[in-house]
Order: sequence, then C-alpha cells, then structure tokens
Amino acid sequence: MKAIRGATTVDFDSGEQIRERVKELLLEITKQNALKQDEIVCIIFSNTTDLHSFYPAKAAREAGFVVPALFSALEPEINGALEKCIRVMVLTDKEEKPVHVYLHGAKNLRKDITQKINIALDGPAGSGKSTVSKLIAEKLDILCLDTGAMYRACALKCINEGVTCTDEKAVDRLIKDINIEVRYKNGVQRTYLDGADVSEKIREPQISMLASTVSAIASVRKKMVELQRKIAENTSCILDGRDIGTNVLPDAKFKFYLSAKPEIRAKRRQSENEIKGIFQPYEEILADIIKRDEQDKNRKIAPLKQAKDAYFVDSSEMNIEEVVDYIINKIQEKI
Ligand code: C5P
Repeated sequence: MKAIRGATTVDFDSGEQIRERVKELLLEITKQNALKQDEIVCIIFSNTTDLHSFYPAKAAREAGFVVPALFSALEPEINGALEKCIRVMVLTDKEEKPVHVYLHGAKNLRKDITQKINIALDGPAGSGKSTVSKLIAEKLDILCLDTGAMYRACALKCINEGVTCTDEKAVDRLIKDINIEVRYKNGVQRTYLDGADVSEKIREPQISMLASTVSAIASVRKKMVELQRKIAENTSCILDGRDIGTNVLPDAKFKFYLSAKPEIRAKRRQSENEIKGIFQPYEEILADIIKRDEQDKNRKIAPLKQAKDAYFVDSSEMNIEEVVDYIINKIQEKI
C-alpha cells in the first residue's frame, strides 16, 4: 500500500470553492500518479478549523469519486499553520513511487519539502549507512546519494584500463576524462561509468578495497567531491559516505555518524552479500572491513572521522528501524 499526499487552500470559506478545489486536487493527484479509481482504497481529508461550509469528502463524491471509501477530519489548531487548508491522503495498492501534489500555496505546510535539506551520513564500511539512507530518503521524499558508489566506479575504471590503483600518476591521467553519472530510476540510484550502468558490477567484493585505495588519491577525491556538491547544491538529499560532514558539506544542517562493532558489521555484510548471491567467508569479510577502516581513517586527505557537530549512532544493538527512527526524530527536532 502506498500513501499519496496532497493539499490545497481556498481563498474563502465557501462551499463552491471547496468543491472546486477538492475536485482540482484529486484530478491532479490521479493524473500525476496515473491512478484509476478502482486502484484507490480510500481517501482521507483533513481541513483547518476555519472551514465550515462544506465537507471535503462530500466534494470528492460530487466530483465523481464514488468507488473509494472517503473520510473527513478536522486538524488541530496549530499556531502559525497555513489557513483555509485542505489536506488529503490517498491510499492505493499501486506500487509505484507516489507523486505528492500541493496546489495554491499549500506546499508551505511541509517544512521538510519547502526547505532544502542536506543530511550527511558518514561511517565505516558495513555500518548500515546505505540501507538507512535509502529508508530516510523514502520517508522524507528526498534524494539519496551513495557517494561510495562513485569511488567504486573509479576503481572499476582502473581495472578496465589495467591501471594499478596505487599508481598516482596513471590514476591522475585516467580521472581527467572519467565520466561518472548518477541517475535515478523510480527513486533508486543507478551509477554509470562512461555511459554504462555499472550499479551491480561495483558491488563485487574485490572492488571494495580498490575503491578505498583509489579514494585516497587527491585527483580522485577532487573530482568526486565536485560532483557530489553539485548534486547537493540544488536538491534535498541525504549523502552517505566517509567525509560528507567533515569535507563535502561541512555546513550541512543535519549530520550523523553511524558505526557498529566490526564483528557485527562483518556479519551484516555477509548476510547482505548472500542475498545477492555473493559468498565470502566471515573471517575474510571481517579482515577486509578492519583493513578498510584502517585505510579510510588514516589517509591524508579527508579521512573517515566523525564531524564535531554530528550525532553519533552506535547501531551494534539497534535494528534498522530503530536507527531510522532515531535519525528522523533528530531531524524533525531541528527542522
Ligand atoms: O561506502 P562504500 O563501501 O561503497 O565505499 C567504498 C569506499 O569508497 C570506502 O571504503 C572509502 O574508501 C571510499 N569512500 C570515500 N568517501 C566517501 C565514500 C566512500 O572515501 N564519501
């Protein structure tokens, strides 16, 4: 089940305008989500206490929404809330990513949508950053940028061109013309190297260590950080990486550092890999993780470390939902 949100405002508390605006809002939601009536389970409205002339649910019936169950409720009176506003939640069985619709200035209701927010989520390998950041992005309806994927693509480029990842001069030459792009399909990041989708290829275990090695080279970091800043500049997004809070976006309003004991991270990585059909002994994964932590923490440029103003989250004893809830609560306190 998916929830599509929407809201609109009216200029006057008149039955005629409530009917007109509710109809407009529902038609726009069904159009933008390519939704048929029989795919809608129910429509729930809430309106501010300054509207008395007409029920939004009745307006929906009159507008032809006869199949779904309808319900209207009153919102609490909140100081500073938008006036004469009707909000809606349309529940559907369709699995596509919802497109939320805000008309007639109603977007001001959602500070997390109107404000551009950048969230920095750093931490060592296997701490759960990418799973957590995908879930947070989904909840806040913002983009999620896995910056590790970019360094992985650089490592893959080295392999493809037969360049050793420690050969700084050769890597410098290679990086000059590298073309790494990040695109989103249904909200999911796909990583492209020189035009080819390498999203699966870069997850192979041998790429992890090479990515760590190549990411210590100045020219690589310079190019990747430029790309990351460009994406974050105009878009609300959560970036997961190693140096987001300390170097890529030092002014980000929301910073988190996620970690867990190496043994737990290795176990999690092993289960993740097995789901993908990648089988590697636990001891080998643990040794890789410890070595990669060492490399990432001790490199000269932008090493892995917690930003002074980042919240520290130790996920050793927490499940994914608990981590996500903790981070979302902290963001909402500060928004
Ligand atoms: O997060 P992931 O395991 O995909 O990252 C692969 C490697 O890329 C890391 O071990 C790290 O060396 C490097 N990296 C980095 N800075 C980032 C993200 C990843 O140096 N912001």
